[in-house]
Amino acid sequence: MTDHVVVIGGGPGGYEAALVAAQLGADVTVVDTDGIGGSAVLTDCVPSKTLIATAELMTDVAGANELGVMIAGGDGQSDGLRVDLARVNQRVKALARAQSDDIARRLEKEGVQVLEGRGSLAGSDRVVVETPGGREEILRAHAVLVATGASPRTLPTAQPDGERILTWEQVYDLDEVPSELIVVGSGVTGAEFASGYLALGIPVTLVSSRDRVLPGEDADAAAVLEDVLTRRGMTVLSRSRMESVTRSGDVVTVTLTDGRTVEGSHCILALGSVPNTGDLGLEEAGVVLKDGGFVNVDRVSRTSARGVYAAGDCTGVLMLASVAAMQGRIAMWHLLGDAVTPLDLKKVSSNVFTAPEIATVGWSQQAIDAGEIQAEAITLPLSGNPRAKMQGVRDGFVKLFCRPGTGTIVGGVVVGPRASELIHPVAVAVAESLTADQLAQTFTVYPSMSGSVAEAARRLHRFRA
Ligand SMILES: Cc1cc2nc3c(=O)[nH]c(=O)nc-3n(C[C@H](O)[C@H](O)[C@H](O)COP(=O)(O)OP(=O)(O)OC[C@H]3O[C@@H](n4cnc5c(N)ncnc54)[C@H](O)[C@@H]3O)c2cc1C
Repeated sequence: MTDHVVVIGGGPGGYEAALVAAQLGADVTVVDTDGIGGSAVLTDCVPSKTLIATAELMTDVAGANELGVMIAGGDGQSDGLRVDLARVNQRVKALARAQSDDIARRLEKEGVQVLEGRGSLAGSDRVVVETPGGREEILRAHAVLVATGASPRTLPTAQPDGERILTWEQVYDLDEVPSELIVVGSGVTGAEFASGYLALGIPVTLVSSRDRVLPGEDADAAAVLEDVLTRRGMTVLSRSRMESVTRSGDVVTVTLTDGRTVEGSHCILALGSVPNTGDLGLEEAGVVLKDGGFVNVDRVSRTSARGVYAAGDCTGVLMLASVAAMQGRIAMWHLLGDAVTPLDLKKVSSNVFTAPEIATVGWSQQAIDAGEIQAEAITLPLSGNPRAKMQGVRDGFVKLFCRPGTGTIVGGVVVGPRASELIHPVAVAVAESLTADQLAQTFTVYPSMSGSVAEAARRLHRFRA
């Protein structure tokens, strides 16, 4: 008999798993409430990176004058340009919808059934689906994958109104350009929106409860970003914890715990995410939840209930679309008896899409400083790179970590334009345990930014007879 796999949630954790299960011959149903592609495609990654594509263009144009390009109607800087936010948002939403449709078509082509509705477990081998028409369907399953994602965290004292106090899901409904934007939260999401809207020409104040922006990222990288953002005119309020956000007419007021207030026209709340794991029948089916309500999984995505797997943001393992997708695939490879390598977070490359971008992979400087692993580090500023000079790039660096004895590359950080692309050779080196010498001896194009990756590796060379 063919295995019937039911996937609850059609984001990257769910749809990538469904594709693997179908490829391996299982009968698969994906149950989803909001649309195939999930938050990743409809409200989070895809929309934010599409908005940031416009911001990147504006950043490039802001540097055009130095490269000898004069823009008519302006002084050669971006002030001669104007962003039509309504048009940008229209493009964002259309692109997200088209991406969702593409994925839905691919699922259909591979024979995956998609059922619109809210799924929950009734034991570990049945899923109850409430359809939008109010019907209830019961699906029998040999295995279930829970991939229900997460939602923006809000506070009772900071409630979004969808007009001026916004979660990141609501910003694409803005038609008017904010005259003063306040972003609360300086983690990855807050930093990306603050950097993006600043590049679009909007005055931004970033409210950060910590000493610096991006507290979870490489400290040197965060320092470069904070320096660039403040140079470009952003107000960064560090050690400033938000107490409440209120609105009176067109004015939004953020009150800090020390009594200070910040006023603006709009506020984006970037306070982290909470897992969508309530009312799913998880605990009743024997699925153990961790602190904060995340599903506890092992490295092959098994939960504590036999036959129930979980993937993506609902597990809180590492809230990235790439990780969600890999957890989902791993679950299906494991379930259906294919070859499987357990999830290894040390091989995950990730990127903060600010200007400049910050990309990282493998062991971090923080872990090295804490003595969790012994490693040598080299940091090479991009300002010395010939391609960077030609392009007017001054901010950024390449940092590599390697083991002292073997010279094996164990991690790296790249800060600069398109760091998300530049990190790839470092990610390959980490995944394949290449040495600094092997990375250094691979030809790079001259002139190229990736020349700095090879040069940093060359500087890690030690005489090894
Ligand atoms: C602003 C922002 C930008 C981001 N940018 C990036 C990026 O650039 N790169 C990156 O790798 N990651 C990025 N992320 C993270 C990424 O969006 C998530 O890690 C990813 O969406 C997780 O995928 P998922 O499948 O777990 O959940 P989701 O994408 O959230 O999908 C879950 C789906 O399940 C559905 N669902 C929920 N409950 C039920 C139910 N009971 N029944 C049926 N369906 C249900 C939801 O409607 C949704 O469609 C970003 C996050 C944010 C907030």
